Amino acid sequence: MGIDIGIDLGTSTVLVYVKGKGVVIEEPSVVAIDRNTNKILKVGKEAQMMLGRTPGNIMAVHPMQNGVISQYDLTMRMLRYFIKRATGISFFKPSVILSVPSGITEVEERAICDAAIQAGAKKVYLIEKPLAAAIGAGLDIAKPIGNMVIDIGGGTTDIAVISLGGIVISDSVKVAGNKIDQDITKYIRRKHNVLIGEKTAEELKIKIGSAWPFDEVYVAEVKGRCLLEGLPKMISVNSAELFEVIEKSASAIADAVCHVMERTPPELIADISTNGIIMTGGGSLLYGIDRLIEHATGIKTYIAESPAGCVAVGTGRSLENLEVLTEGVINISRRKYARL
Ligand code: ADP
Ligand code: MG
Repeated sequence: MGIDIGIDLGTSTVLVYVKGKGVVIEEPSVVAIDRNTNKILKVGKEAQMMLGRTPGNIMAVHPMQNGVISQYDLTMRMLRYFIKRATGISFFKPSVILSVPSGITEVEERAICDAAIQAGAKKVYLIEKPLAAAIGAGLDIAKPIGNMVIDIGGGTTDIAVISLGGIVISDSVKVAGNKIDQDITKYIRRKHNVLIGEKTAEELKIKIGSAWPFDEVYVAEVKGRCLLEGLPKMISVNSAELFEVIEKSASAIADAVCHVMERTPPELIADISTNGIIMTGGGSLLYGIDRLIEHATGIKTYIAESPAGCVAVGTGRSLENLEVLTEGVINISRRKYARL
């Protein structure tokens, strides 16, 4: 028997679940390559350290953008690296189940499947992220009961209503963690004439950013490059101004949620208002985002336990059903793909 693995190939993070072991790898989805030789230098954390710090011959990139492959070759090689690390030395090629955004096109699906096969998978199965997120959050998705899941990642926010193990209605918007980081960077440049890096903006967001105002005002200091003098400069930013910057994206997310609700059949809305809304993804850790959604929808909103791992855990748990993945479980995995 080979090893079966489940992979959440996120825009920000890759998580790998090994059957019987749980999540064994959690690393940034970043690769660093040497431009001259086209060789991969680092993958994951070490490659992330290089983002924005590379000399001319090295390039560090996120090969996944908005949940789909933006750079095919790099994604494939990143996958190969993680699959190898997860399986160790094994003669057997693993069966791999990958979670994908629910709105992806067949061409994008095909690209992900091909990349996984090229990366060393024997067979590839796909599961839609919102279903995986729901399973990982501990919901029993097989019942004829409506549940709503909101997954806020780096590139996209995915909103879905699930019932009977399938997605009834869903939407994916390109407003999530990265957009907020970019807005923070822009704001600081405009207000202070100081340029800060991607990572610094994210740290600010995590430290004192919020989607609902804090009761107190918090202050943080950050270092960037002054655009007037070209020299390093320290500036201080407070949580009230950051809230104003974040509010726009946060309300766009809340609007998208309301829009999905408007299209949801009434019976399912009734279920959701009884059960509440569940939030997953690293972006749901943004302070007050649950409160904002609750305020916008009037429905109790919960953040799942370890939200950033839900999709991976759900993807992994669906491995348990791989043997029975025939027509009866089309709901869980829409398509099976293997090289003939
Ligand atoms: P993906 O599935 O796209 O790889 P993740 O679920 O890993 O993404 O979420 C990544 C996003 O979550 C990033 O934008 C990151 O800044 C954000 N994030 C992680 N922790 C926090 C936190 N404590 N507060 C706010 N945002 C956070
Ligand atoms: Mg994700």
